[in-house]
Amino acid sequence: MTTVADKKAKTTTGGKAEFHDVLIVGAGLSGIDAAYRIHELNPDLDYALIERRERTGGTWDLFRYPGIRSDSDIFTFSLPFNPWTGNTSIGQGEDIRNYIWDTARKFGIDKKIQFETQVTSANFDSATDIWTVETISGGKPKTFETRFLFMCTGYYSYDEGYTPEFPGIEDFQGQVVHPQFWPEDLDYKGKKVVVIGSGATAITLIPSMADDVEHITMLQRSPTYITSLPNKDPIALATRKVLPPNLAHNVTRWRWATQTLGSYLFMRKAPKAGRALIRRMTKAMLPADYPVDVHFKPKYAPWDQRLCVVPNGDLFKAIRNGQAEVVTDTIDRVTATGIKLTSGRELEADIIITATGLQMQALGGTEIAVDGSPVKISDHYLYRGYMLDGVPNMAWTIGYINASWTLKADITSQHVARLLKHMGDNGYTHAEADRAGEILAEKPAMELSSGYVQRAADQLPKSGSSMPWMVRHNFLLDYYDFRRASVTQSMKFSKVADAKEKVAG
Ligand SMILES: Cc1cc2nc3c(=O)[nH]c(=O)nc-3n(C[C@H](O)[C@H](O)[C@H](O)COP(=O)(O)OP(=O)(O)OC[C@H]3O[C@@H](n4cnc5c(N)ncnc54)[C@H](O)[C@@H]3O)c2cc1C
Repeated sequence: MTTVADKKAKTTTGGKAEFHDVLIVGAGLSGIDAAYRIHELNPDLDYALIERRERTGGTWDLFRYPGIRSDSDIFTFSLPFNPWTGNTSIGQGEDIRNYIWDTARKFGIDKKIQFETQVTSANFDSATDIWTVETISGGKPKTFETRFLFMCTGYYSYDEGYTPEFPGIEDFQGQVVHPQFWPEDLDYKGKKVVVIGSGATAITLIPSMADDVEHITMLQRSPTYITSLPNKDPIALATRKVLPPNLAHNVTRWRWATQTLGSYLFMRKAPKAGRALIRRMTKAMLPADYPVDVHFKPKYAPWDQRLCVVPNGDLFKAIRNGQAEVVTDTIDRVTATGIKLTSGRELEADIIITATGLQMQALGGTEIAVDGSPVKISDHYLYRGYMLDGVPNMAWTIGYINASWTLKADITSQHVARLLKHMGDNGYTHAEADRAGEILAEKPAMELSSGYVQRAADQLPKSGSSMPWMVRHNFLLDYYDFRRASVTQSMKFSKVADAKEKVAG
């Protein structure tokens, strides 16, 4: 790797661009984790973090709807090197946002972040082994150069959510709100609200708004599996009392990680039993005559789509209390005063909330090229779930779909840190995942039938069916494999012999 001392000489623009050994894109949880891990193992490397927004936090800064919270447990969702100190098992959005900023400050990462800087394109030059990264910074074009590009840009578009066409929506006299762009001043007190959707966002919104509205309806086309999680973990609290903070955090983190994985594997291996178990738990939380099979019996098997979680059964409580209603039907058309359903029923509404999901987006919308040739992501295999074959010196954090995103993000950051150390120790300027022409048996990189995954099929990379080319959603296997695995397996390394001359000249 380059050192800070000779970085000026290495810039392809003769010093006009800002050069960093490593450029991390995105200052959400993954970006902060990446910065920590890279610096931990490679303290001499100069890195910068660039972030399109004006603050850290990513998802947890963008989403501001009522009740916003994590839907996986906060112990595995927080970072292993900075203990979560809150008392609940599910983290509130604001607490997660503050936690991310506190982590950045605590480890000096905040000083490395350049805000309001959005990456638009990046080109790798194999003559110099340097990426040229084009950004819009504070409204103006700015060019960066880097030896290694680390994309921590999340998985969805920050510019638009997903909203299907609803016939007649233009006739609606009330307000239409997408949760990704929640108006700060939205007044829903005493109003009739219809939330379209049944995913994590819808089931968070319903109980959070139920006390204030006149009536709130969750309108779903088809049901989702929803399980309840106790929002206090007495064992975690007790562990904190007897162990030092970092150790206590990691003991609890591992306990939750194994517990969650065990539950996932059980549901996948025994879907019938899993289905029956969830149905029994759901039924127990609803009135005796409630039509559970109409509203809470999905057509798919558990974990064909993400399982949704509610803390302390809050959604079911709102239904039990008559504050909230679930309607399973399809939309015929939106009218001036509400939504007319295919069944003929009309739902009156002052506000319609389209909790219809995210628009998946790879690499934060960055156009990637190698030697000027555009990279089509869906043509490439993912090496260890983070590197596209044939695209040198670039990592991309993609978390788990069946457990906290962060578990995989941290494994990835640690592996990338080791890869950078190997490059530095050997003077390599080029690291590339290499299939050596092998045709790999394929499996989907994200095994979910959810609409947002299906809609994005052409943006997802390919996964092989064996390591190191397989995208695996199993934290325990990944943890041991990534720690043991050599960073050189299926990789090719080289150095630009006369790097300085080529770059400067
Ligand atoms: C409402 C909601 C709830 C969620 N709850 C959970 C949960 O409970 N558990 C879980 O595991 N996952 C959850 N997720 C998924 C969640 O996004 C991730 O877990 C996690 O926050 C991802 O962190 P990240 O840093 O990888 O991505 P993000 O949080 O999306 O951060 C990406 C950052 O990159 C920046 N960026 C993107 N593109 C560019 C660009 N071109 N140039 C510069 N900067 C760029 C963004 O501004 C952002 O700051 C949730 C997602 C949503 C939307």
